[in-house]
Formats: sequence, structure tokens, C-alpha cells
Amino acid sequence: MLLDNRFARDLPTLCVPCNPVAAPAPQLVFFNTALAADLGLPLPQDPAAGAALWSGNALPPGITPVAQAYSGHQFGHFSPVLGDGRALLLGERQDHDGQRRDLAFKGSGRTPFSRRGDGLAALGPMLREVLIGEGLHALGIPATRALAVATTGAPVYRDAELPGAVLTRVAASHLRVGSFQYAAAHTDRPTLQALLEHTLARHDPQQLGRADAGLHLLAAVAERQARLIAQWMGVGFVHGVMNTDNMALSGESIDFGPCAFLDAYDPARVFSSIDTHGRYAFGNQPAIAQWNLARLAEALLPLWDEAEHERVAEAATTVLQDFATRFEAHWQALQARKLGLSTPDAGLAHDWLALLHEHGVDHTAAWRALADARDQQARRLLDLFPDPADVAPWLARWQAVCAAGPTELRAVNPRVIPRNHRVEEALMAASEAGDWAPFNALLVAVRRPFDDDPALARFAEPPPAAQAARYRTF
Ligand code: AMP
Ligand code: MG
Ligand code: MG
Repeated sequence: MLLDNRFARDLPTLCVPCNPVAAPAPQLVFFNTALAADLGLPLPQDPAAGAALWSGNALPPGITPVAQAYSGHQFGHFSPVLGDGRALLLGERQDHDGQRRDLAFKGSGRTPFSRRGDGLAALGPMLREVLIGEGLHALGIPATRALAVATTGAPVYRDAELPGAVLTRVAASHLRVGSFQYAAAHTDRPTLQALLEHTLARHDPQQLGRADAGLHLLAAVAERQARLIAQWMGVGFVHGVMNTDNMALSGESIDFGPCAFLDAYDPARVFSSIDTHGRYAFGNQPAIAQWNLARLAEALLPLWDEAEHERVAEAATTVLQDFATRFEAHWQALQARKLGLSTPDAGLAHDWLALLHEHGVDHTAAWRALADARDQQARRLLDLFPDPADVAPWLARWQAVCAAGPTELRAVNPRVIPRNHRVEEALMAASEAGDWAPFNALLVAVRRPFDDDPALARFAEPPPAAQAARYRTF
């Protein structure tokens, strides 16, 4: 397994070499054969070899893992030193499309950035990362993905004693807003410049060497985030912890620990037990992305001489203000596709969402039922509302302008998302009872989100309303 350690070579002061801790009795419990094929990686030869490799016990020669340094605003408060406290970058490699991809461990033991943490991960949350990453990817939403999960045979102590696991994550990169914040706060201008060039070479090579390249990076990241967040909003995804260290410059969804999907549509919905003020509520995500981009702009400013700061700050402010326009354009275009309109109609989209909100209707089921309504089966949509009269006038308005047929609508409005109750059920069975059947079945389903296969019907069903309302993530 050949991996390039370009990050460590380009930016030695932004990472620390560090090895994974030994796993006493590793077992490979998940391996992503499709992703391995994309990366040109061989399948594990036998279970023992797979377990040794993907637990970190037997890294091939030539791989020198590093813990990356980064800072971050956590719930609005700046932590100058975060960094990989339980992750290690193994290196990068090109996939079949020529895209460079990072491979990294998560849960592989303490690093110089662990602070009071144990550097470990429990199996359940790593399996959540598998399901959500595969689900988002299948929905056409950029996301980091899991290549492998190995249990370690060592316990992890949280509220209870849990099985420990190491996840191997594949990402377009692990460069974050917090990476620039760290370089700006702790290093010199040449290092910040080197980070800029490394990042542009990775994600925006056409901007390398241009005047004000930092501003071009800001604009490119803003564009990717605008598109990403619009996609999250389209499927009811709540990231849950959009700290600046959890916002990737690549535009991939990353570090979706306490994430969840809306059942009943509610812009104020929060799932995370630690998000007590609703900072990362569903409907706040675009504003938070913009706030995080402002932190990126601040971190980029030291690239310029002081005499230039006013000019650059003004230009950056324009980019940040444009984020709202970019987001709105992506959101409108996506809502128009979901509604099957040939031109966006913000009024129609807003009225639809207002109806879902007012009547507490399941977000995914409602969108999917639009296709049925185009298929002479409006009953399915009407039945989602307490009274069919609630939605009938809107339905008539929409039918009059909808230009898409049921097949087109079904290709953009998913039937199956990784529903919270199904994910929870699968995690519990696997990590507490060693029963992998629910996890394996759910994984098949979330990889086919637009499929009408009757065998997947139970994964399309919303949970009972009371259960949905109670759902919290930790
Ligand atoms: P998060 O917001 O969960 O992505 O992580 C915030 C910070 O806490 C990062 O610097 C992580 O590396 C660190 N961290 C999270 N969990 C642990 C752990 N169990 N041990 C050490 N560091 C951790
Ligand atoms: Mg993180
Ligand atoms: Mg995390």
C-alpha cells in the first residue's frame, strides 16, 4: 500500500509523527470493497492480515503517520490548539479518477494533541460514521467515507465500557478552516503561505500563483460550502457540530459525530445534547457556514502586509456577503429540481416547507410522495397531513407548474435516508449484542436511496412521532 506523505513533507511544523497504539485482539468488522477498488487497494488477503493492517498493528513499511495540528472555534469559542487527538493521517493516494485522497485512522490512540482524551473511539460511533458517510455519498452529497473498521479487542470507557474500534477514513483532504487558524495563530507567514499553496495544489490548482491567491481560496471554499450546505438542507441533514475544525476546505461533509436527519420538518430542530443553545440547528447551518468562512478570512489575512489589510478585508467582506447569494442560488436550484420545476419558484418552495413545518410532516416522506402525486397517487401525500385540505390547495398550484414526471422526481427525492432510529438500532445490535444483521441490511438500504425496491420499504418508514421527538445524539 503506497501512500504519499506530502502533507508532512510540505508542512512539517503543522503535524507531529505519531504511531497508532497496539490493538490486543483486532478484528476487521467492516471493509468497503467498492471504495478500496476506487483507490486501487487490494482486498485483505485473510481476516488476520486485514485486522492487523486496518487496526494499525501492521502498517506497511514507508508509512509514517502524523497527527495534524489545527485550532478551532468550538461553539463560538476559540481553542488555539486542538489537532488530531484521536486520529492519524497515514498519507494520500490517487483514486481511479486521479483525485488525491487522504487515508487516516480515527480511534488509534493518544497523540500529542490528545489533551485529557484517551485517543480512542467506541465501535458504535465509528459504525455511525460508516452509515452516514455511505448514505451521504449515495445521495450525491460530498462526504468523507469509511474504508475499514476494525475492533481493537480493548475496551473504551465512556458512560459504560464499550468495544474499541479504529476507523480508516478516506477524505478529499483533512484540511480544515482550523488548519489555517492554527497556522495564523502559531506560525509565521512563510508557513501560512506554504499551507495556502499546499491547499490550492490539492483543491484549486488553477488558482496557484495568482495575485491575492488567499482571496481566491476563500471564494472557492465559500462556493463549495454553499453547495454542500444546500445539499444538506435538501435531505434534512443536521451536522450537529459545525465547529471551524469540523469544516473541510474540500467541501466534503466531515466529522459528523452527533449528526442526524430530520424526521418531522422543523428548521429549529437540534439533536445534539451539547448544543444547548441551538447554534447548529438545522436552519442555522447556512449562517454558521458563513460565520466559519469569516474565521477563515481572518486566518488568511496575515498573508498580506499590514498596509494591504484594509483592501483585502474589504474584498473578503464581499466574498463573505456573496456567500448568502451563492447559498440561495444553490438552494433555489436544488429545490426547483426537487419540485420538478423548469425555473426556480422560491414562493412555492417556501410555502411547501411552511406546510410541512406547520403540520409536523416527515420531510423525506413528503418529498418522495410528490412523485406519487405525479403518478396518480396523490393520496399518499394527502395522508401525510392531518387533514388533506391542509395541502390540497398547494398541491393544485404545484401540479399546474410541475414539469417533471414521477421517475425524474424519484431520482432526486430519496426514499431511504439513514434514519436516526434505524441507525441507532443497527449500532446497538452490532456493538452491544454482536448482531450484525441490522447494520448490514441498513448499509445495503442507505446505498440505494432512490430505489423503490419493496424489500427496502421498512427503511423508508418514519419512526413513531413520539420516538422521533425524543431523539438526541451524544
Ligand atoms: P470533534 O469536534 O469531535 O471532531 O473533536 C474536537 C477535538 O477533540 C479534536 O481535536 C479531537 O481530536 C479531540 N478529541 C475528540 N475525542 C477525543 C478522544 N477520545 N481523545 C482525544 N482527543 C479527542
Ligand atoms: Mg473534529
Ligand atoms: Mg470527532
